[in-house]
Amino acid sequence: MRKGILLILSGFAGSGKGTIVKELIKRYDNYALSVSATTRAPRPGEVEGRDYFFKTREEFEEMIARDDFLEHAEYVGNYYGTPRQYVDDMLDKGMDVILEIEMQGALLVKERCPEAALMFVMPPSAGEVYNRLKKRGTESEEVILKRMKRGAEESRGICKYDFLIINDDLEKCIEEVNNTVQCAKCATLRNRDAIDTIIKEFDDFLMDKEEG
Ligand code: 5GP
Repeated sequence: MRKGILLILSGFAGSGKGTIVKELIKRYDNYALSVSATTRAPRPGEVEGRDYFFKTREEFEEMIARDDFLEHAEYVGNYYGTPRQYVDDMLDKGMDVILEIEMQGALLVKERCPEAALMFVMPPSAGEVYNRLKKRGTESEEVILKRMKRGAEESRGICKYDFLIINDDLEKCIEEVNNTVQCAKCATLRNRDAIDTIIKEFDDFLMDKEEG
């Protein structure tokens, strides 16, 4: 059985990555979503254990000390982190595990797991990022501007990702993400075990022939 792929999905606030992830999980049975821990307060409608594991700063720092996280980062004044155990368990079961995380964390995961596939999703323009944040209406103008500032920084790091998806049509975008994942799974980098196995099979075959 092939091990699943670790898919890192990042994008500016309002890029639609949350919707993309929900649809991937609904439509295909190969995806599992890692639920992060955060010190940010829940937004209306967010559910503990489904959207995030909501923690105090103290609890979060204890988890860091126990090495519970695959990665963690600070984003606009709050901690966010990926609990390691779930990711490992799901990959071993052959599931494709999605981490919906920001750039610092994504690049950390890439360092630790070079076989992770990094995908960046963005709306067609920076103005559209602002419009989508305003429309969501869950953050103050001050926080929105902080997120726009962070977006300006992040735009300079997009080229460190493996794939860029532009979300101007949600349906097209979901299909594109899924197709890209299927392609990424075929990369030789992610199939070292299969390559090592075929090398050994050839060698064993030839050795048998020589002996026989
Ligand atoms: P939000 O507060 O809008 O839910 O998330 C803010 C940012 O934190 C988003 O870019 C989101 O992808 C990112 N994020 C969510 N969970 C994690 C995580 O576990 N680790 C990291 N590094 N970023 C995360």
